Amino acid sequence: MSKTYKAAIMTGPRTIEIQDMPLPEPGSGEVLIKVKAVGICTWEQRAYTKEKPDAFPFWGGHEIAGIVEKIGPNVKNDLKVGDHVAVASLTRCGECYFCRKGMDNQCLYSEAPAKEGVTPGPRGFSEYLLVRGYECYKVDPELPFVEAAVSEPVACCTRSVRQCEISFGDTVVVQGAGIMGLIHAKLCKLRGATVVVSEPDAKRRENALKAGMDYVVDPINENLAEFVRKNVNPHGAEVVIFTAGGQAAFKQAIEAVAVGGRVMLYGSMHPSGTVTIDANDIHYREYCLLGSSKHDKESFREATALLSSGAISVKDMVSAVVPFEKIKEGFELALAGGQYRVVLSVNE
Ligand SMILES: [Zn+2]
Ligand SMILES: [Zn+2]
Repeated sequence: MSKTYKAAIMTGPRTIEIQDMPLPEPGSGEVLIKVKAVGICTWEQRAYTKEKPDAFPFWGGHEIAGIVEKIGPNVKNDLKVGDHVAVASLTRCGECYFCRKGMDNQCLYSEAPAKEGVTPGPRGFSEYLLVRGYECYKVDPELPFVEAAVSEPVACCTRSVRQCEISFGDTVVVQGAGIMGLIHAKLCKLRGATVVVSEPDAKRRENALKAGMDYVVDPINENLAEFVRKNVNPHGAEVVIFTAGGQAAFKQAIEAVAVGGRVMLYGSMHPSGTVTIDANDIHYREYCLLGSSKHDKESFREATALLSSGAISVKDMVSAVVPFEKIKEGFELALAGGQYRVVLSVNE
């Protein structure tokens, strides 16, 4: 009998089944990963609570860290069995228009269907995972796996911050001090910015200060733009990064941005992203609106390098570690709110 491993499959709304799968052999270009930690991201939480039956079955888990177990032929990544890695579990075809343009986060084949007979999804909620060599990024063996699993969100933020073109000494406003907001804020500090975090939740404002941010503002009870001009920079913020807060926060971002500045729309708005904007205001004040979605190969490399060297730490963002077998409890905990990241520990 061949060896099996356990995988957690969503089979319906708020229903997760632990299923036995046959352990695969890595084929050409493939690497078998022994999973050690997987984050429960908002995207998976939305999948978990979906009411549509056609959304199932779904095999989630895209914030993955683990150990290289077996390497197939023709893997060009410099990996050895036993290496600790973070996994960027997305197809990057390398050939499409956007991959060639260096925007592989927009790869036209990133949603390529799973192999025939395999449940769709990134498949990290699992004891083992077959990935392609290019999806593996080595991390320092001293970095705890539960922190290495946060490489994926960090990689989304390193890409976003790159697009913001922050100069030394710039004033940056980060809207939202959830996990994405805090990671952005930490990266902007590394870029030499004065960072103002706008966040309605008092506890999260306190955590932002603890994480070394310069100013915090409650955007419900204070006027963000006035606060910035009065206390930080009379011209406003060179960069405003929207990670949360909906339409109201978008309006505040436009008010707070300086002439010639940039507003990064990192977060998505739910259920609708419709906002009103005065085109003349963009014309006269010469600011620019940017977007950033997902990570690219370079931003993933940056994220794993920053975490491995300790240049940034995400220790304060791993709110709870739950054993893989208790994945349902992990989801309920994440959904209850008030957490940064709930991470599952696997193969302990
Ligand atoms: Zn994620
Ligand atoms: Zn592509």
